[in-house]
Amino acid sequence: MSLLEMKNIKKIYDGKEVLKDVSVNVEKGEVLVIIGPSGSGKSTLLRCATNLETPDGGEIKFDGQMGLVFQEFNLFPHHNVLKNITNAPIKVQKRNKKEVKEEALQLLKKYGLEGKENSYPNELSGGQKQRVSIVRALAMHPDILFFDEPTSALDPELTGEVLKSIRELANEHMTMVIVTHEMSFARKVADRIIFLEDGDIIIEGTPDEVFNSDNPRIINFLGKFED
Ligand code: ADP
Ligand code: MG
Repeated sequence: MSLLEMKNIKKIYDGKEVLKDVSVNVEKGEVLVIIGPSGSGKSTLLRCATNLETPDGGEIKFDGQMGLVFQEFNLFPHHNVLKNITNAPIKVQKRNKKEVKEEALQLLKKYGLEGKENSYPNELSGGQKQRVSIVRALAMHPDILFFDEPTSALDPELTGEVLKSIRELANEHMTMVIVTHEMSFARKVADRIIFLEDGDIIIEGTPDEVFNSDNPRIINFLGKFED
């Protein structure tokens, strides 16, 4: 059985089918990358997968802990970095305070944020904020991590450091679903790629299959990212 199973997912907004009949499985340890034009339903699919949104049809099977990293960091501005990370593991998961704190400090170190535990989000760069978001998600011990365009709010120089962190997670076999417009990153990090357009999966395959596809819609889409 797959770790996450989404079957025949439909989502309607204002009478418009934003997700038409989308079925996706994610295997344990797999990195699934979702690409596609703006408005194609990528965020809606992630929101349905993570229970932030209720589908109008279909079935989702998942048993475990999910972690989410959004485009707009979503850190609490009035909490320092450490509290942003430790709050949910302590309050929601009722884990031991001291252990959670120690783990948070280790994770901060691992993601190049040593010494930032007492800083507030507005004292950090966008890349640092996004790495705090990643650490915050990891502190919940997720079975699967979802990323929705994690670098699209970042300058190009800061994008690299966040993508590097995500690649490290892939090397550690973290199960991940990543929505991104970073095509060379997608090609390198993905085990499988899904191309979504108008609420439908147009193609699904290995990075080579998708990038070498002769489907004109994909050629057109990928062509927009070439220099
Ligand atoms: P993507 O992430 O691929 O850019 P989205 O999933 O955000 O696309 O949006 C898909 C479509 O659904 C778009 O037409 C968008 O305007 C619409 N949509 C998304 N969220 C809502 C919402 N909460 N209410 C109404 N329409 C929405
Ligand atoms: Mg989106």
